[in-house]
Amino acid sequence: MIEITDLYFATGNAHKVAEMQALADDSRLALRLHSAKDAGGMPVVVEDTGTFIGNARKKAHALHEKLGGRSWVLSDDSGLCVDALGGEPGVESAYYAGQGATSAANLAKLIQRLQTIPAEKRTAHFICVLFVIDPAGHEHNFVGRSNGKLLDRERGGAGFGYDPIFVPDGHTRTFAELGETVKNGISHRSRAWAQFAEWWRTRTEQQ
Ligand code: IMP
Repeated sequence: MIEITDLYFATGNAHKVAEMQALADDSRLALRLHSAKDAGGMPVVVEDTGTFIGNARKKAHALHEKLGGRSWVLSDDSGLCVDALGGEPGVESAYYAGQGATSAANLAKLIQRLQTIPAEKRTAHFICVLFVIDPAGHEHNFVGRSNGKLLDRERGGAGFGYDPIFVPDGHTRTFAELGETVKNGISHRSRAWAQFAEWWRTRTEQQ
C-alpha cells in the first residue's frame, strides 16, 4: 500500500495554497498538502534576511517548530525582479508600497515606476524558492524562475499580485489573462515544484 505523507505549507496566503494544491494534485505524488491553518495558523515571521532563500528558510522553521519539529514542512518565498529597477521589488515584493500595503498598492507603485521605462527595457522575472524541512530536520531547497516582460497598465482578472502586468516569454497575454491552468504550466512556482517533485520521486523510489 502506498503511504501518504502529510506536508504542511508554511504560508497564510490562500492563493498560494490553491496554486500549490493544484500543482500537488497534477504531480500525483503521495502527498497530502495542508495549509498552515491546519496547524492552527502560520506563526508571524519577519522576512528580514534580504534573500529569498533566507526568508523561505525562516518561514519553514517557524512552522516546523510550531508542529513539534517532526513533520514535513514546505515553505516558499517568491517575488518579482525588474531588471531596469536593479531587481526591485525583489524580496520586498509583498510590501513594496510599505509594510502592510495591499497588493493593489504594491502593483500601483510598480506601474508608476515603470512609466519612464521603455517597453523593450521592461524585462523581469518571477522567482520562487521552495524550502523543505524533513522530519529529521534536514533542509532541502528548489528554485524556479519565469522570465517575461511588464506592461505599464493592468490586463486581466485572474491570479494575484503582479500577475496583471506580467507577460511571460512566449506569450502575448498577462498571467492574469492566461489564467491558472496556463500559469501553472510555466510559473516560477510550478518550476520549483517540478524540481521538488522529481527529488521526491527519486527519494521515495530509493526507499
Ligand atoms: P512572499 O509571500 O514573501 O513569497 O511574497 C511574494 C510576493 O511576490 C507576493 O505578495 C506577490 O506580490 C509577489 N508574487 C509572488 N509570486 C507571484 C505570482 O505568481 N504572481 C504575482 N505576484 C507574485
